[in-house]
Amino acid sequence: MVISASNEVAAQSSGLVLMYGGTFDPVHCGHLRSALELTQCLPIQRVHWIPCQVPPHRPQPQASGAARLAMLHLATADEPLFYVDDRELRRAGPSWSVETLEALRAEYGPHQPLAMLLGWDAYLGLLSWSRTERLLDLAHLVVIARPGTADQEPEALRAWSAERRVRDPEQLSLHPAGSVLHITLPSQLQISASFLRQGLRQQRSMRYLTPDSVLHYIQEHQLYVADVV
Ligand code: ATP
Repeated sequence: MVISASNEVAAQSSGLVLMYGGTFDPVHCGHLRSALELTQCLPIQRVHWIPCQVPPHRPQPQASGAARLAMLHLATADEPLFYVDDRELRRAGPSWSVETLEALRAEYGPHQPLAMLLGWDAYLGLLSWSRTERLLDLAHLVVIARPGTADQEPEALRAWSAERRVRDPEQLSLHPAGSVLHITLPSQLQISASFLRQGLRQQRSMRYLTPDSVLHYIQEHQLYVADVV
């Protein structure tokens, strides 16, 4: 579905809690803008930005957890609904999302509407995640369209999510968990962390693709200067 300014709702003091997990290697304007636009479309009370320690389904991040966390703090400092959460960095072993959601559910209680945000590319791999079924016991899924990823939804995933799909974003606030919402956000920025890393390696300016504060941090700490070994 496409969300437009006309069905924006104001963020309420109580509302949906969103988990935004990723490698954030580094965080960029595609991440930031998506999360901000969601807070304008859904009644979100807080976005937990959760950098992973050991991503189970992809190569290890190039920058350290501490560096990725610091960049997230710099990028989100002025946005009151954004909260940088280091719980996966403090946990040893693979960063299973289901364990993170279990921890959030325990903190917020059984009645709090909770959702996990995923880009389309991440959603496509969902059936290979640990305890996929349990994810929807714990939270809703909000899947955002990501330009540049033309891959189709596998039939098994389509069938899995079909019964749980809702079209009305308001539905997410009515129940604590269990629904899948697909959203096409207004800006749809075709920015990826790999594009940034490659550009930085080639010493091209990556200005305006991530906040200046993040670029300064990258420069100061000499990140992404070398090829990954
Ligand atoms: P990489 O290029 O290294 O794979 P990435 O840009 O995809 O990184 P991640 O930290 O891996 O960034 O992504 C975390 C989450 O953010 C994923 O669910 C991903 O789909 C989503 N995401 C990343 N970039 C965008 C974007 N430009 N628009 C919407 N969602 C995005």
